[in-house]
Amino acid sequence: MNKRTAYAVSSDNSRGRMIPEEPPAGRSEFQRDRDRIIHSTAFRRLEYKTQVFVNHEGDLFRTRLTHSLEVAQIGRSIARNLGLNEDLVEAISLAHDLGHTPFGHAGQDVLNECMREYGGFEHNLQSLRVVDVLEERYAAFDGLNLCYETREGILKHVARKNIPKLGALGERFLQHRNPSLEAQLANFSDEIAYNNHDVDDGLRSGLITLDQLEEVSIFSRHLTQVKDKYPILPERRMVYETVRSMINTLVTDLIQQSTRNIKDAGIDTLAAVHTAPPLIGFSQQIKKEQQELKKFLFDNLYRHFRVVRMNSRARHTIEKLFAAFSSEILLLPVKYQKKFEQEGHQAIADYIAGMTDRYAIKEYQRLFSITEN
Ligand code: MG
Repeated sequence: MNKRTAYAVSSDNSRGRMIPEEPPAGRSEFQRDRDRIIHSTAFRRLEYKTQVFVNHEGDLFRTRLTHSLEVAQIGRSIARNLGLNEDLVEAISLAHDLGHTPFGHAGQDVLNECMREYGGFEHNLQSLRVVDVLEERYAAFDGLNLCYETREGILKHVARKNIPKLGALGERFLQHRNPSLEAQLANFSDEIAYNNHDVDDGLRSGLITLDQLEEVSIFSRHLTQVKDKYPILPERRMVYETVRSMINTLVTDLIQQSTRNIKDAGIDTLAAVHTAPPLIGFSQQIKKEQQELKKFLFDNLYRHFRVVRMNSRARHTIEKLFAAFSSEILLLPVKYQKKFEQEGHQAIADYIAGMTDRYAIKEYQRLFSITEN
């Protein structure tokens, strides 16, 4: 177990909150951020938002909620080993998907197209908007008033045109500076989590098969190891064991390579992290293998006709909702009608982005079906 390093983010080197508050009693600033995220409305909605499979397709598939928990678990383990701020990694991981629309990437792409004339839609920016503005829980401020470093971690990317709106948070994109190691790590934990659980969910759904996956080097290598050790194993258990050991390999590789990168760059302060190249990363071999796995998942799972059909229905649903609200503002709930007066179409985007998969389907029925629902 490593002690926290000098280049980790801490309450001492934090840039603090937008609205200053008394320090929390009995927990750190970043534990407070994590707690606020867990208690938010947007966090609870993640339970009914899609990762790859729409929520009603099966009870065992990952949702954005279970995905976020897996990201946090992986992130915390690595943070502990690298001597980074575990609480900050946890907070960023739990918040990283808060701004996602219903129906996964398909939903976000179509909302971006619908919003083209009105500034577009970016899910990273929307996650930040959730924690900065949209949550309405506290007496003294809108949003969750999180620490700068948590917000920095949530905003992974942003379109250039949106940078001026971001104040201090936008500076690093203009100056080409990297975020904290905790933010870099949360990003890799996300990747480790989704690549592996998409393999698991993909197999469970039957959309991809073990035979196909045996052509992917990282999978076949681990599968062979499992088969050598446990020649007679039911298939489901064999898959779990393979995925489990792949995650282990990736986590171990990330810790080892990142430790080397940090050491080689002579990093000793948080300021040095910001001006150095990205320091959290995989070794060359694992990087190559991860690319191969991603390409496999893209070709065989994300473009599987059943997933494409689902995405097409999602597209249709969101397009129709957006068009209906745009042409008749009075169709919006009163709260959003009022927001529309001040913020225009952003209010429609906020309403749609906040919907869960099933809420969006219900709203579609309420607007377009003449049968009772
Ligand atoms: Mg994610």
